[in-house]
Amino acid sequence: MDANEQTKSETDNHAKDRAELDTEIQRLGLDEETAGPTTVAYEFLAGGRVRIWDDWDSKVYASLDEAVAALPDWVGDGPDPPLPSYPAYRVLLDGGSGGEATTVTTDLDAACGWAEKWARGGEWDPYRPTWVRVRVEAVDDPEECEDFEVRIDPPTPECADGTRTHDWAEISEESLHGGVHSASRCRLCGLGRDRYSLYQRPDCGAIAEDVVMYEAGEDE
Ligand SMILES: [Zn+2]
Repeated sequence: MDANEQTKSETDNHAKDRAELDTEIQRLGLDEETAGPTTVAYEFLAGGRVRIWDDWDSKVYASLDEAVAALPDWVGDGPDPPLPSYPAYRVLLDGGSGGEATTVTTDLDAACGWAEKWARGGEWDPYRPTWVRVRVEAVDDPEECEDFEVRIDPPTPECADGTRTHDWAEISEESLHGGVHSASRCRLCGLGRDRYSLYQRPDCGAIAEDVVMYEAGEDE
């Protein structure tokens, strides 16, 4: 506790500050009466500082003004309130073989957004693009569903010095599927890179644009 920083006289002199904080706390629903997810408490410290805390956090502000200005940050601190009756959506990647998850959210659109992010966060081929089939369906009503595809491009691998900047030397260039395929190799780390303006996907034969893939360099 900071009780030693707080003197009796300072406490007594804070009636006006207290009223200001109380008003703001009530307005934001941070008091016990409004039964929000968060209830804050405060105390006045030496030097005009104000400490605010809840069950999860405690912060000291340099002045009353700063404390009042920061109060909105405390709204929603702590565990999320119980969810309203939002529907649950099942998410399947590649028919389930790539992963399966359930998200509880407002609607199908939101579930699809979540599903795409989740898919992108997965571990995919680090050297080649991956096309992931995503299916999102409401758990209570599989008719409410959406299927789409997410293309996940490989991140640029690191070069010998740990950066992602390579010194590319072009090896070849050819025309392919009406586009251009160029191959390069990094002079520093030996990483190979193939770029295709038009690329035929091995999984379905469809043409994809601007595909980059890498090949680890061979040991010298
Ligand atoms: Zn390199």
